Amino acid sequence: MKWNELLIRYGEMSLKGRNRNYFIRKLKKNIEAALSDLDSVQLIAERDRMFLYADDSNDMNSAIERLPSVFGIQSFSPVAKCEPNLTDIYKKALEVIGSDETEGKSFKVEIKRTDKKFPYVTSELQQMIGGHVLRNFPGLHVDVKKPTILLNVGIREDGAYLTSKVYAGAGGMPVGSNGKSLLMLSGGIDSPVAGYLMMKRGVAIDAIHFESPPFTSDLATRKVMDLAEKLSSFGSPVKLHIIPFTELQQMISKQIPDEELMTTTRRMMLRIADKVRVQANALGIVTGESLGQVASQTLESLTAINEVTSTPILRPLISADKLEIIALAEKIDTYSISVRPYEDCCTVFKPSNPKTRPRIEKVAYFESFIDFEPFIEEVVKARRVVDFPSQKDEKFTDLL
Ligand code: ATP
Ligand code: MG
Repeated sequence: MKWNELLIRYGEMSLKGRNRNYFIRKLKKNIEAALSDLDSVQLIAERDRMFLYADDSNDMNSAIERLPSVFGIQSFSPVAKCEPNLTDIYKKALEVIGSDETEGKSFKVEIKRTDKKFPYVTSELQQMIGGHVLRNFPGLHVDVKKPTILLNVGIREDGAYLTSKVYAGAGGMPVGSNGKSLLMLSGGIDSPVAGYLMMKRGVAIDAIHFESPPFTSDLATRKVMDLAEKLSSFGSPVKLHIIPFTELQQMISKQIPDEELMTTTRRMMLRIADKVRVQANALGIVTGESLGQVASQTLESLTAINEVTSTPILRPLISADKLEIIALAEKIDTYSISVRPYEDCCTVFKPSNPKTRPRIEKVAYFESFIDFEPFIEEVVKARRVVDFPSQKDEKFTDLL
């Protein structure tokens, strides 16, 4: 079946007016980036929908495979075009319907006739085309209320446009349309999922990772790089900032009693992340925290950790259960990377008995014996930055 164009329906574009054009431009750019190697593809954006054309049918098929991973698309439909006369419309209708399994399915024809000079009215056309389809596909039956197959026929002066398939898009908003944030990316299951969810809401992502060699291995860092690369396949190039955390972490564990160790470590990580955030031109910080999951994620802990900055901390998983997070991780294909058995810095330096209700005054008191600021500045300067340009990944065909 040769499709002539794809009709792309926009997802949520909650902001109105001039912002809408901005969203549409962003979406167009993101689609162009996802399809940049498909030479024959052309996009025309209108206020309410976008059209994609491709002369080469391989390009068209690749576009159909890739569009479901682009945020900001609600759904899309391949469209076949023919001359606006009954003979050609009949022929095309059979081709379009025949491109799907029909046995035992219900269907309905819907006509949109904008060419008022066309010699048949809508109700006549509906019956004639419907009758023709039924005669040729005896396995079909009509259901006007809830048809499985809805054949749309648009009759305009320049041609007839037929479509019967609706592919789900990824929903959300175009990546980059809601600014950029810095994702605290561990090698765990949660943080990549958190990054994905923020990208879905239009946020471009850079990432920061804390490594503590030789306590953490190269393979642990490799794992984080693979996660960053995977995230870049959702429409945003990702810059990964890798912080050499060993010395500072050792200093913290010497200075701070076991009970407050975890809280202070997290506070230092957040202070470092906040400095990198400024340099990365990011507005917020994203974490994979989920309420009550571990000692550092009680409301009391989050409050004590959060106290070091007024930057918005985005925690898209705060209300998610672990099993829900795992299901998402599997869906976006980060799970198999996350479960590789290499420990990150927090696991290595894990105190035996962390407080679930740390007291800020106590934490601040122990921290006050050392001026951490110069050490924080130092690791920010010493960081490595690895670039992951936006990837094209054809595997994500049914994400929602
Ligand atoms: P995850 O699966 O994302 O590692 P987790 O359930 O293991 O989460 P924690 O280890 O307590 O929880 O980490 C909470 C959050 O802190 C992580 O989701 C991540 O955003 C951040 N974080 C933890 N360790 C690191 C690290 N080494 N580098 C960067 N960020 C980290
Ligand atoms: Mg972790």
